[in-house]
This record gives sequence, structure tokens and C-alpha cells, in this order.
Amino acid sequence: MNIDHLGVAVKSLAAARSLYEDLGMKVLHEETVEGEQVRLAMVPLGESRIELLEATSPESPIARFIQKRGEGLHHVAVRVRDLAATVERLKKKGTRLVSDDIKVGAGGHLYVFVHPASAGGVLLELCEDPPQGV
Ligand code: ZN
Repeated sequence: MNIDHLGVAVKSLAAARSLYEDLGMKVLHEETVEGEQVRLAMVPLGESRIELLEATSPESPIARFIQKRGEGLHHVAVRVRDLAATVERLKKKGTRLVSDDIKVGAGGHLYVFVHPASAGGVLLELCEDPPQGV
């Protein structure tokens, strides 16, 4: 297990990515995830990545986050081996999840969010790589 990525809420993807480019990092694909009303860019960083998140609508969770707290660290994503089994285990223990179901996100990876109320105030994303060869 390792940290898959850190999600950072930004007002402008263009402005945010230029800092990382100035630091000599390569900003990978940008893509829009309609279901989360967000446009994102991935910045590889060793075995992890920084995920820059820009809202695509005022109702986006990212827009509401920035309205309340300003730009900043939005979530920490940990890669797990068997997400379905992990979610079952957490549910049995009464861990609060943001959604009941596992979702499919950027690049086909699977993810679910653990509510900050159950994770020491941190929005924790659990994710699993898409099945190989599909
Ligand atoms: Zn994420």
C-alpha cells in the first residue's frame, strides 16, 4: 500500500499547473470527470502523484470546498489491494463512507471516499488500479 495521490483543490488548473511546470515536473493528462463536476490534472511525483482539481460548476464539491476553506489540500488517496473487500470490512465496522458504492474515476481506477468524520478529519480516498489488460 502507498499514497496514490494527494488531491489539491485549486481555482485555476492553468495557474496551478504552471507552478509545478516551473519546478520542472511534468503535468500529465488533463481530464474532466463529469460525475464529480471536476477537471483534473495529474502531476507524477515519485511513486505518488499530485491531483490538481478545478470545479467545472458552482455546485461541484470542489467549488463548495473552496468557498468554505479556500484552495488547499482536499483529500489523501491511499491505494489498496482489494477495494471491494476493504469497503465491506469498513462497512461492517460502521465506518462512514461518502458513497455506498465504489465508483469508477479518472483512467478507469476504482475509488470510494471515507468521510472525514471517520478518518480524523481527513477526506480519505481509497483506490484500486483498473484491472490489467482491459
Ligand atoms: Zn483523488
